[in-house]
Amino acid sequence: MSRTALRICPLCEATCGLTLTLADGAVTGARGDREDVFSRGFICPKGAAFGALDSDPDRLRGPLVRRAGRLREATWEEAFDAITAAVPALVREYGAQSVGVVLGNPNVHTMAGALYPPLLLKALGTRNLFTASTLDQMPKHVSSGLLFGDPFAIPVPDLDRTDFLLLLGANPVESNGSLCTAPDFPGRLKALRARGGTLVVVDPRRTRTAALADRHLAPRPGSDALLLAALAHTLIEEKLAAPGALEELSQGIGELGAALGSFTPEAVSPACDLTAAEIRTLARELAAAPTAAVYGRIGSCTVEYGTLASWLVDVLNILTGNLDRPGGALFPLSATAPPGRPAGPGKGFALGRWSSRVGGHPEAKGELPMAALAEEIETPGEGRIRALLAVAANPVLSAPDGDRLDRALAGLDFMVSVDPYLNETSRHAHVVLPPPPPSRSAHFDFAFNGFAVRNQARYSPAAVPLEGEGMDECEIHARLILAVSGLHGAPPEAVDERVIADTLARAVTDPHSPLHGGDPQELARLLNGTTGPERRLDLMLRTGPYDLTLDDLRQAPHGIDLGPLRPRLPGVLKTRSGRIELLPDPIAAELPRLRAALAERPAALVLVGRRHLRSNNSWLHNVPALTGGSNRCTLHVHPHDAERLGLVDGGQARITAEGGSLEVPVEVTDAVRSGVVSLPHGWGHDRAGSRLSVAAAVPGANVNQLLDGTRMDRLSGTAVLNGFPVELTPLP
Ligand code: SF4
Repeated sequence: MSRTALRICPLCEATCGLTLTLADGAVTGARGDREDVFSRGFICPKGAAFGALDSDPDRLRGPLVRRAGRLREATWEEAFDAITAAVPALVREYGAQSVGVVLGNPNVHTMAGALYPPLLLKALGTRNLFTASTLDQMPKHVSSGLLFGDPFAIPVPDLDRTDFLLLLGANPVESNGSLCTAPDFPGRLKALRARGGTLVVVDPRRTRTAALADRHLAPRPGSDALLLAALAHTLIEEKLAAPGALEELSQGIGELGAALGSFTPEAVSPACDLTAAEIRTLARELAAAPTAAVYGRIGSCTVEYGTLASWLVDVLNILTGNLDRPGGALFPLSATAPPGRPAGPGKGFALGRWSSRVGGHPEAKGELPMAALAEEIETPGEGRIRALLAVAANPVLSAPDGDRLDRALAGLDFMVSVDPYLNETSRHAHVVLPPPPPSRSAHFDFAFNGFAVRNQARYSPAAVPLEGEGMDECEIHARLILAVSGLHGAPPEAVDERVIADTLARAVTDPHSPLHGGDPQELARLLNGTTGPERRLDLMLRTGPYDLTLDDLRQAPHGIDLGPLRPRLPGVLKTRSGRIELLPDPIAAELPRLRAALAERPAALVLVGRRHLRSNNSWLHNVPALTGGSNRCTLHVHPHDAERLGLVDGGQARITAEGGSLEVPVEVTDAVRSGVVSLPHGWGHDRAGSRLSVAAAVPGANVNQLLDGTRMDRLSGTAVLNGFPVELTPLP
């Protein structure tokens, strides 16, 4: 007997609503939910493969505990016992910093990953936090923190209303968007052009997104900050800047002209490999558009000046008057956003409140660079990381120099992985705690609603009950927190009830909270939900900006539309000045380095990554339905470079960079510009001890092995994964 159930897709940031077909407790099909208020029936091949991922036979069904050097099946009790026996004792002997935490990208796609890691860090008291952000979007957090005082105040392009969209280093037709949650991103781009708008794509590759554009500019990788600085310079020099009301809200606007003075289009032209005329034309078009939005993503973030590029994206939105207005770039307002506060000075955002022990890397948003994890484990001395808790993280594949990290992990005293797979990283763990398949978890998008191009709220209860020995993902996290606190055996609900009690205690005394003046006990009794996380969600909705409850969401299974994005300034500002701090000190101090880069001789050949529609980082290579086709780990080489280097299509090449070398299959294509080669990331599934049978059959090469981890965006600690020099030699 089959039935259907609704589930928000957790496989990328677009958060499409799916209709799952279920039979005998298994997902037998997935199609787009036509009534979903946000995605309106859109689905991509990844979402369509939801069932195959959900029922992957390589998924772990129960915990593993290492005994006599080998991981063996164990009960949940034994697994948490092992954690309780190891972690508190290490903390007692070596201190809180001896435990590191690694959070992978899938955490932002689950309720558990949003609700519990902050509590885990608090319980441990460690500052050794490493996340996928320093392999991805940390530059955007840092620039937003410096500009607006809040690292999560990230404006998103108003895709459905803008007249002019400038995309840099982003390929949403394949990725479906990032830091811009928009189901059917490709359809929205086509609609922009259909209503007479203009799409300009800046990318060294002629991506599927670039193919949709009115104009495609293919500059040299890593030159985004120079290009953006020249666009800003042109707006100021040609008196095209028109910030309007934003001028009153900003400080430092008058100093921008001098700060960017040397970045003329003529000066940056050789480094960007674009003509000065092309740059000036783009600046003029941006200024002339009735509304416009500039949006930069991974290709402009994971480069040496990623934070400067991220900052300049918003500088352009401000100079053109497009920040915080319909059709420009706006701040979403999610249904679980904390209560607003009156405009005025806030606490501000600080960088470098502490530094990493070995490399002295400054923290950013409470995190240390993922590229510094291996040295923090390997280097002896006080504060060395001896135990690691890795939650949905596979840094052996995703961080620079996976071989070194692989060796470092093998030397840990103790490691826990919360992961459904025995993968390249979790195979080092002493305890593996596998969450159930996504169909068996409830879902609410705490993270991505804050980056959505339309305000909405949707909740999916678990589509299928837990089976056998499976444990709910939130319960795993709550029990892990108790276990590292030495409280294994306490009821996991206690973790949630503590949060609820603390939140209510604050809310009833906060004059801006809708619960101000209430009785905390009485309010706690009012909360709905059959589980701790549901009650926490209900509380966040009740204290949120839309006066919603969990029951409201349950009664609207296709979601509640909360309308288009609206202007939110100055309410979002938390800077010390209470204004947009347009030229903050850390940025001003970094500009001379960017200026010096103008004199550097560009490398003859550099590497960039690429995204495939049927892939997402290292997650999906074990799903047969998503392998093959364009989703292959090949090196794209331009025909001119192939001829110059003696490479042939279908042949093999050795690619070498400062971190090592790889042998890769060559695909000759003019989809990548000359002087640039492209290799996707997330591959390299050939390490013994993993249990990923489909991925291991076509392992691919791990591009991050080319890096030694020393190249970083200095302000954010983000690894340089794009635009680094490589050499190629043909192999027989
Ligand atoms: S676009 Fe993303 S959210 Fe939508 S179906 Fe595909 S993977 Fe899922």
